[in-house]
Amino acid sequence: MNYDPRVFWLFGRSGAGKTTLALRLRDELAGRGVPLIYLDGDEMRSTLCSDLGFQSDARLENHRRIAEVARLLANQGLNVVVSTMAPEHSQRDLAAKILGKKLVWFYIHAPLEVCMQRDPKGIYKRALEGKVHQLINYPFENPRSIEMENRIDTDAHTVEECHQKILAAVMIRPTS
Ligand code: ADP
Repeated sequence: MNYDPRVFWLFGRSGAGKTTLALRLRDELAGRGVPLIYLDGDEMRSTLCSDLGFQSDARLENHRRIAEVARLLANQGLNVVVSTMAPEHSQRDLAAKILGKKLVWFYIHAPLEVCMQRDPKGIYKRALEGKVHQLINYPFENPRSIEMENRIDTDAHTVEECHQKILAAVMIRPTS
């Protein structure tokens, strides 16, 4: 790849397929010798952001920290893959403000029913049991057109097909 480092940010509901596709992308780019760091939203939550709760301002601060770390890494020549839910406009707006042209969104989408059926982390089950704060009621605010430039429908395509679509978008980014 011959361009400035980018931050490839995969966002979408829990169970949409962000982690699966982010890891696939990380491994693919690593295999091609592309310098890259993966920032997993859950790992960031349990480390750098472990002091934060889940209220609106805390979710925003969580995204601010991740975006700032991604910016620092990209400024030092590393591509960055991020996966978080980023369910609200406020979080996406802040990430966009911090990262500017470095940021490339990937909207990883599957219908809520499909995500609930997959439930890879057991979050929906725990939410239905009342053990997870409000998760299902969190508004997942529909992405705006710029955030949907790369929309990946994981219920309609295999992991490999989705990966190839992401990879094609990653590889054609021009130098700014
Ligand atoms: P998230 O990180 O968005 O919460 P995960 O990647 O952890 O989601 O889990 C998604 C689940 O959906 C995995 O079990 C994965 O195998 C499955 N899955 C089925 N089809 C796809 C697809 N096309 N892309 C990504 N994941 C898929």
